[in-house]
Amino acid sequence: MFNKLVKKSWFPLIIRIISAIGFIFALIVLYIGSVKIIFGFNSSLMMFVLWVFWWPLLYVSLIFLGRLWCGFICPVGLANEVGNSLSKKRKTKFYRYGFIPFVVFFLIVFWEQISGLFSSTQVTIFFLVSFVSAGFLLGLILPGWGFCKMFCPIGTLFGSFSRLSFLGVRTDKVKCEKCKTKECVVGGEYPKCPTFINVPKIKSNKDCVMCGYCIKNCPYDSAKICKIKAGEELREKAGFSLRESFFIIALLGMSVLLTTRGTLLLRFFDASGSLLRAIDFVLWIGIFLGLFLFINLFVKGSYRENLRNSGFVYLPLVFSLFFFLIVFGFLTPLTSIGDTMIAVSKYIILGIGVIWSSKLSYDLFDKRFLVYFISIIAIAGFWVLVLIPGPLSLFSYSGNVYVVEEGGVVQMDAYSMGFNPSIIKVKKGYFDINITNVDVIHSFDIDEMDVHVNLEGGGSRRIRINALEEGEYEFYCKIPGHKEAGMKGVLIVEDV
Ligand code: SF4
Ligand code: SF4
Repeated sequence: MFNKLVKKSWFPLIIRIISAIGFIFALIVLYIGSVKIIFGFNSSLMMFVLWVFWWPLLYVSLIFLGRLWCGFICPVGLANEVGNSLSKKRKTKFYRYGFIPFVVFFLIVFWEQISGLFSSTQVTIFFLVSFVSAGFLLGLILPGWGFCKMFCPIGTLFGSFSRLSFLGVRTDKVKCEKCKTKECVVGGEYPKCPTFINVPKIKSNKDCVMCGYCIKNCPYDSAKICKIKAGEELREKAGFSLRESFFIIALLGMSVLLTTRGTLLLRFFDASGSLLRAIDFVLWIGIFLGLFLFINLFVKGSYRENLRNSGFVYLPLVFSLFFFLIVFGFLTPLTSIGDTMIAVSKYIILGIGVIWSSKLSYDLFDKRFLVYFISIIAIAGFWVLVLIPGPLSLFSYSGNVYVVEEGGVVQMDAYSMGFNPSIIKVKKGYFDINITNVDVIHSFDIDEMDVHVNLEGGGSRRIRINALEEGEYEFYCKIPGHKEAGMKGVLIVEDV
């Protein structure tokens, strides 16, 4: 049924055109601030839709729908294809540098951290416009969907994670063996595979952007989007590479620095602003890559071969960590779910990742799995006992208390991801908070007092607070994901 739809000439083109119109609408709203004719959309609501809903839902969709977003909806892929259609002289040589997508991924994530992408309308406009422009220009220069294959950070992340999806493009090997024309490879009525997959032998979701061209081109109904066993391709070591294995381990390191405790653990350096955040990135990613190289010394067999395969063992674990960093991080601040409940949900998701990764370590390494199994348990233990604020944490997350007199000044540090002090007690009246933002862009918000202040990376701000009503007021950073990661505190106003 679904594949019949993909065979139609207008599908998924119609969805991509609607998506492109939606994209232009989003840009207009972000640029001019509000469009009253349609639902009173304004730029704040659009930012909310983009980063608080679209991004986590896209992540959830990955497990059920694979990279359907890339081929069916993404306007950048469309721009890439339009660029393709306008130019003919293109060489595939560039695609030999397979490390480029992974390097670009970390550079863009770092840029996101220092630019405040999720909270700034201007940066979001810049991000969206430059992605579509890059998609179009690379379409002119490179064959196929060069942007999606080499430069899109979402494509790079989703490429690896889509290996765990329940949906993928597969072919009937018997039909393909008999097929002489191979339209899926050389192109037919529609272009050939835009990511240069050997479609008749496709076993992996990794590079498949689910454009549907092989399905349209195939005269024998061999290529299909179908239900697959999630993670099956990992057991078959389909398309494994050393660079992707290192990439998965680097993601493990990066996940730690996206937590409050993880960031603080290694902050021994006298640096501030973007440099401090860069040090976080280098240290945590470096530590995990170093440990990865080290533990593989204890596994029998070819060292290089073990390195190439063993990074994939951790893929389900990394997926579970990113699941709660992205999905919980962005969506739970909108709900009234308590901290303990959130922590327990994280333990459950982490547990699924641990079981899946452990099973995979046995499938891939048989009796040599023990070293990987121990490391999986150690990583999970580190998250449960140190990084996840919850009932099993060894650290107190209650924060430092600062008592301030009326008219006094609180010296506060804002950092990724927390405030110090995080509990302020004050008698009814006014006081100032002098906030030093030690790393990247953050904000300081108290909704009930209508306090909303952006904090530049490495800068300081002095804020006057009029605490006139007795009670407890939450302060937090409004950048999506930061509050849930721990960037919050409480202002306790007491009666005189
Ligand atoms: S997918 Fe279709 S076109 Fe491609 S080799 Fe198989 S049968 Fe031939
Ligand atoms: S394998 Fe088929 S659906 Fe996947 S990218 Fe290639 S042509 Fe598109």
